[in-house]
Amino acid sequence: MATLRLFDSFQKRKVEFVPCVPGEVRMYLCGPTVQSSPHIGHARGAVAFDVVRRTFAWRGYKVTFVRNITDIDDKIIKRAAELGMTPKELAQRHADDYRASMAAVGVSPPDHEPLVTENIPQIISLIGRLIDRGCAYPSGGDVYFAVESFPAYGALSGQTIEELRAGARVEPGEHKRNPLDFALWKAAKPGEPFWESPWGPGRPGWHIECSAMTMRYLGDTFDIHGGGKDLVFPHHENEIAQSQGATGPGTFSRYWMHNGFVNFNDEKMSKSLGNVFLVSDLTKKYEGETVRFFLIQTHYRSPINFEVGEKDARPVFPGLEEAERRLDYFYSTLLRLEDFLGEQREASGPVLADAERLIPALQEAMDDDFNTSVAVAELGEAAKLANKLMDDPKSAPKDLRRRSLARLYNDIRGAGTGALGLFGQDPRAFVVRRRSRLAATKGIDEAAIENRLVLRETARKAKDFAHADQLRAELRDLGVEVMDTPRGPDWRIRE
Ligand SMILES: [Zn+2]
Repeated sequence: MATLRLFDSFQKRKVEFVPCVPGEVRMYLCGPTVQSSPHIGHARGAVAFDVVRRTFAWRGYKVTFVRNITDIDDKIIKRAAELGMTPKELAQRHADDYRASMAAVGVSPPDHEPLVTENIPQIISLIGRLIDRGCAYPSGGDVYFAVESFPAYGALSGQTIEELRAGARVEPGEHKRNPLDFALWKAAKPGEPFWESPWGPGRPGWHIECSAMTMRYLGDTFDIHGGGKDLVFPHHENEIAQSQGATGPGTFSRYWMHNGFVNFNDEKMSKSLGNVFLVSDLTKKYEGETVRFFLIQTHYRSPINFEVGEKDARPVFPGLEEAERRLDYFYSTLLRLEDFLGEQREASGPVLADAERLIPALQEAMDDDFNTSVAVAELGEAAKLANKLMDDPKSAPKDLRRRSLARLYNDIRGAGTGALGLFGQDPRAFVVRRRSRLAATKGIDEAAIENRLVLRETARKAKDFAHADQLRAELRDLGVEVMDTPRGPDWRIRE
């Protein structure tokens, strides 16, 4: 197996990935706090790590992927009260919402999806262990982690305890010894959900859940911990302190990966600016796969600028429009290949040299810190070559050409679905769906087009070629291009 290199946020450089157990990858991603519907920023993180997971599996690793759901916290309690629901009802609604939105953008369900409320005994036992080891202390019904007990605190975010202490404050109502200490357990306030514990009724702080869940599902030490860049401090810093505080130095995650943000018209996403776009809204207007393709075109660590324009008082998204055009190019190429190849889609025997470079090129791109932008460009080159070979019957001897095209078809589809989670749909279904949407926006009557195509076929069968050509020209004037395929005539809208 070739060497895979990834950017480790802890070491702050690209390093060779060496798993704990050869051939296996155990990874954990901080999942959503389910107080509202997921927006495109949530989709970005989920898609980025879905690609990481798929790529490892595509490269032959056995992958165990855990993504949690935070189903109890201050924001959920507050929002549920505003809506007159219980926190549990609100969390269930938005957990379902999250799963559906992620499925729409092609994110596979994790192997384990633990909820905080189903891991309370594990959390209480971990907090007890930290108290026993002198890393945590109960105070006024709360329990705090004592940051002074963990000298390596700050290493992930590149800060020292002294620097951090300068900016820390103790909020009213907190019973900390030190302003940097953070809550592992919070005493119940009146009317809030609570669980019994050795320190009185209460609920877990946010950070402890991830330490308890990784231990439960992946063991004391595992391979990769992921999350958005916004989680580096304090969340991931606190996770390291808790986990290593309990299980010792050198334990917990061996590599840290963080994905970049989605910015809107180069501004940070914010509810107050009204630039939060829900996945469920975007996938009403575009294919879920378009949203995925749009996100994957950019390397996971780079920021994505999500352009939002306005047309007829409605938002328009030039980036998604362009992504859908590009995705349609791939599906149209796959459809054309299916028409060309018919049932003969195997590619045994020699092929043109250019037709066998996609898989090695894609492996190289993905082995270089999951470089999806290069991978997508390589897929584009392969599709371009396929179209070129189909356009020109003299491009290669008949059998060599057919085998090369079969190889390209299998590799584009195999690598696309395997590593990136793209191109898994029926090409014709995709192309026809998009054509209908485009026809609707351009005011093209699909039934009238189909009628003209039938008339053209009748004219051709009657050898009235002048009339057939005239019908084709009329269609061209409507912005419609006619293609003659082995299935019969088909059409597409020129863009
Ligand atoms: Zn976490």
